[in-house]
Amino acid sequence: MNKQPIACPNPSCENHLPRSADFFRKRGYYTPKHLGHKLARYQCKTCGKTFSNQTFSDDFRQHRQDINHMLPRLLCSGVTMRRAAWILECSYNTVCSRLPWLAEKARAAHEAALDSGAMKTSYIQFDEMQSFEHAAAKALTIALAVRAKTGQILSAKVGRIPSNGHLADTGQTLYGWTRNESPKACLLALRQASRVAKPKVTVGCDKATPYPSYVAKAFSKRLAPVVDAQAARGGAGGDFDPLFKLNHKCAVIRSDLACMARRTWATTKKRARLQDRLDLFIAVHNGYAFT
Ligand SMILES: [Zn+2]
Repeated sequence: MNKQPIACPNPSCENHLPRSADFFRKRGYYTPKHLGHKLARYQCKTCGKTFSNQTFSDDFRQHRQDINHMLPRLLCSGVTMRRAAWILECSYNTVCSRLPWLAEKARAAHEAALDSGAMKTSYIQFDEMQSFEHAAAKALTIALAVRAKTGQILSAKVGRIPSNGHLADTGQTLYGWTRNESPKACLLALRQASRVAKPKVTVGCDKATPYPSYVAKAFSKRLAPVVDAQAARGGAGGDFDPLFKLNHKCAVIRSDLACMARRTWATTKKRARLQDRLDLFIAVHNGYAFT
């Protein structure tokens, strides 16, 4: 669909700010390789600059704009980046470069949703889940906050943590993996979640000792959040799970993000990209129209 342009893209042209409707003349058509239909080109009558509606679009200069709709859905359906490239008939490098771009748009959509007031809640569930970057000894934590009533994900923040158990020595000596970013990730996630908290809010979490202090720090005193520290689910399956909504979302993340599955070879290579994938997952899962 060709819309009438309202300004010249040349910043030094007098038509750069919208003025008269007839500042341009039509200058034929072109058909982008992967778009499947033609687009009109225009020319500024003052400076002679030629342009199209694509010039003003946020996917300007992308060769494969057509993958922007399907790529987030594939990446949040358990498909790996290489397999997504194969399905969409583009290169792996295109998927690599498009992921941060899509994640930026997903973050903006999530910020807008948090500010819209439509997600106001009086019960938030909070916990951490674990993954790793490159090698199992380089452990990562993901602080996750969920709106218990609807299951909408309010925040997911990645940070590195020292590995424990039999990998602790390897992480420390081989990789120097000793920094603990868990408090920082928890505070970031709780601060973001606190933006949709109603005046009377309860934060459900497990009995991990530092969580009540994180909640007190992250939530403004005016909200006076009540921390509901539950015993972690015990015993065989079928027992009542007080953090069911959150644990369910953790299971969905493990299933829908290829790099988060257990016993996978599609592991996270950079934690910044894991953060991108989680932000993309929040937007897809919460149902934002961001592409
Ligand atoms: Zn111009």
